[in-house]
Amino acid sequence: LPHNLQSVSHIAVDIGGTLAKVVYFSPYRSAAAQDGQARDRGVLRFGRFETDKIEDCIKFMRRFLADAKSDAESRVRDWVGNESAMPYITATGGGAFKYYERIRRELGVEVLQWDEMECLIKGLDYLVASGTDEVFTYNTDIPPHSSTDPKRYVNSGPATYPYLLVNIGSGVSMVKVMSPGKYVRVGGTSLGGGTFWGLLSLLTGARTFDEMLALADDGDNRNVDMLVGDIYGTSYNKIGLDSSVIASSFGKVLKKKMEAEKRAEDGANRDPRRRSSLMQIEGAQDGAGGGDVGDGRMFKSEDIARSLLYAISNNIGQIAYLQSEKHDIEHIYFGGSFIRGHEQTLRTLSFAIKFWSKGSKQAYFLRHEGYLGAVGAFLKRDD
Ligand code: ADP
Repeated sequence: LPHNLQSVSHIAVDIGGTLAKVVYFSPYRSAAAQDGQARDRGVLRFGRFETDKIEDCIKFMRRFLADAKSDAESRVRDWVGNESAMPYITATGGGAFKYYERIRRELGVEVLQWDEMECLIKGLDYLVASGTDEVFTYNTDIPPHSSTDPKRYVNSGPATYPYLLVNIGSGVSMVKVMSPGKYVRVGGTSLGGGTFWGLLSLLTGARTFDEMLALADDGDNRNVDMLVGDIYGTSYNKIGLDSSVIASSFGKVLKKKMEAEKRAEDGANRDPRRRSSLMQIEGAQDGAGGGDVGDGRMFKSEDIARSLLYAISNNIGQIAYLQSEKHDIEHIYFGGSFIRGHEQTLRTLSFAIKFWSKGSKQAYFLRHEGYLGAVGAFLKRDD
């Protein structure tokens, strides 16, 4: 850790709508620790819990605090520390307010609350300046599944001010940062990570976010999206749209359903025993039974997941581009747990920025994308 931290006895938590993220410092236990020398060297550790299971997060913090307390006590005994190093919690995100009383009551320690946007920017600035390979860009010119070619991920230096931070959590926030500590929230959208998570749980059997990403990996959006080629036959060159561009996300669904219904009805008219296939298609409307993908459903979960991932990411990419134009910003950082380093998401966001800006703007990503707020909250005490 390229930074001398005053205190190693606290844990930071960023409690969002979906996930609670924790960050804490773990000193190296080397021989030098005997004389206190190694106290300012160590690593930052990161952890994630579902906000709905906040009790797991509280349990984790309780264990950390107990360890930190006995550590502080032994340091006092060994004359290498002082009593002011008693453990405490720094907290940010909406849950820092919602769960404030509960955390204080259950853990019996001081809880310092910090503003969410301030922590996000502080965390980002710290990670970017940390001298590690935190920032990278994604090269959309190399095809995605040439998976042996790691050159798609390009390490990058920090973006220069002013920059736009687009944080894709449950919802999306867009923040213009003019200089260290100087920022303004310029907008956002409610169509974010929570929308992807929620809609896919309605539309497919998937329950976890990782399952949903895995589905998207195997899907083909052309089975549900209406492409320019579906409308025009070939490329619509006059306005520069390639035939593979999505004209309407999920735009092919009802058309395909009606075609299937018609096929089934024609069949049933010819042969009354085939009535059951018509009923199957009706069943497909609530996501189960019927249809023609071979596993009893009309549309494959994989295709639905891929289409929704594209729809959400493209939409955010486009709004980010428009905000960057409106506020005269060249560089755009994307953060938040929705990204999760997932290649299709990185690719779609990068492509959107490149496409709309005609190559003049660039999307930047972060290795610790989901932990900006928690890192910021961790550092606040050292101000
Ligand atoms: P918030 O602070 O609003 O909770 P995050 O930055 O933590 O936002 O991102 C939450 C989003 O990240 C979810 O809506 C979902 O799209 C995605 N996500 C990533 N990993 C998970 C996970 N393990 N469980 C649920 N959602 C996840």
